[in-house]
Amino acid sequence: MALSLSRTPAPVLFEKVLIANRGEIALRIQRACREMGIKTVVVYSEADADAKYVRLADESICIGPPPSAQSYLNVPAIIAAAEVTDAQAIHPGYGFLSENADFSEKVEKSGFVFIGPRAETIRLMGDKVSAKLAMKKAGVPVVPGIDGALPDDPKEIVKIARQIGYPVIIKAAGGGGGRGMRVVHAEGTLINAVTLTKGEALAAFGNGTVYMEKFLENPRHIEIQVLADQHRNAVYLGERDCSMQRRHQKIIEEGPAPGIAEKLIAKIGERCADACRKIGYRGAGTFEFLYEKGEFYFIEMNTRVQVEHPVTELITGVDIVQEQIKIAAGFKMDLRQKDIVKKGHAIECRINAEDPTTFVPSPGRITAWHPPGGPGVRVDSHVYSNYFVPPNYDSMVGKLLTYGTTREQAIARMRIALSEMIVEGIKTNIALHRELMDDAEFIKGGFSIHYLEKRMAKLAERNRA
Ligand code: ADP
Repeated sequence: MALSLSRTPAPVLFEKVLIANRGEIALRIQRACREMGIKTVVVYSEADADAKYVRLADESICIGPPPSAQSYLNVPAIIAAAEVTDAQAIHPGYGFLSENADFSEKVEKSGFVFIGPRAETIRLMGDKVSAKLAMKKAGVPVVPGIDGALPDDPKEIVKIARQIGYPVIIKAAGGGGGRGMRVVHAEGTLINAVTLTKGEALAAFGNGTVYMEKFLENPRHIEIQVLADQHRNAVYLGERDCSMQRRHQKIIEEGPAPGIAEKLIAKIGERCADACRKIGYRGAGTFEFLYEKGEFYFIEMNTRVQVEHPVTELITGVDIVQEQIKIAAGFKMDLRQKDIVKKGHAIECRINAEDPTTFVPSPGRITAWHPPGGPGVRVDSHVYSNYFVPPNYDSMVGKLLTYGTTREQAIARMRIALSEMIVEGIKTNIALHRELMDDAEFIKGGFSIHYLEKRMAKLAERNRA
């Protein structure tokens, strides 16, 4: 008996989780909790008061007016909401406070569990210079460049760029969302570019530190999904190809990545899982890579659930959000690497409230919403007919996913799904998705991250002529 007393108690699942987010991911987390028998508390801003998922939650608390800074980023209000509702854990979703180390620290200091990595991990990965260094040390291949921040001395900077070889890219250590980067093709513009990027980085991220790496001309964006528990077990759940981007924003994601040998994926996946064990990673995470000529180059790690996580859920059958919750509660993962078998193909189209050609956001009232259905179709969305898309937040109104035994079948199903989908009252990018499903390069697969922008430029040229 004495032996069992000295053991750490078996973990128990939370009874109540607070969801510190909005929109489709708030609903996604809510669904995961409900399936697990966990009660949910949803916090919301005045702009989201009427949202259906707010009403579906066991409890809901208004935490402020529409601007994010006063609501979804309002840390004291969120923690107070957890206190008054007796929630045990907080799920941050993606965006907002999900990668804010100070928030996760405050959550845990206030006696709640943060559903995500430890604050020190978020801090390590949030600084791209320290993240890159840590990953290099852990055996993950990184983009060639300098190990650390750029020095101030212009002569040194010129020397470093020559060593790396042009073109180079200057990146802010604290950058995110595709901002705080500048490509330099020749020495003449180097110092000016560094000065500009530093200034922008300081203004935008409060951190003027920049670093330099090789600019890869035609890479693909391939990322590896990982899960790691608090007992140093880590697995990778395959890859996603997110190369269809505009201004560094992903538009379509798919998995597996067309044309990349499973052997290569397994090799890089194992490196990622190993890095998780080495840094004591906890929770779900994504290693983002640029992939060129058969090589992977780490660019950053996202220490949270990602928008495109359902792609992986469809091909592996693993519920990533439920795993996050179990891991946060202290459970050992049941998943072993050999049990994770990718099957079939999944594609995700992000449905945004925006003009399909100018990409200008188009908030407002949705007068008609008819989502598609049928075999292999998944729609993750919080909206419905008569829903008002507030102008205050990201323009994504939902994600349309299709699954097929083969990539061809997933594309065919996506074409049908898009043709069935009707959204009225606001503009959406559905027309662009329909075009892309018939695009020869997309159908072939394996295009680079510049493909969409080059395609758009070509179309604009043709329209002008
Ligand atoms: P963020 O955190 O802002 O998303 P990332 O480091 O993930 O920044 O880079 C975002 C995008 O910028 C990448 O997906 C890629 O399109 C481009 N990029 C970043 N680094 C490089 C590089 N070394 N070479 C070429 N493109 C790059």
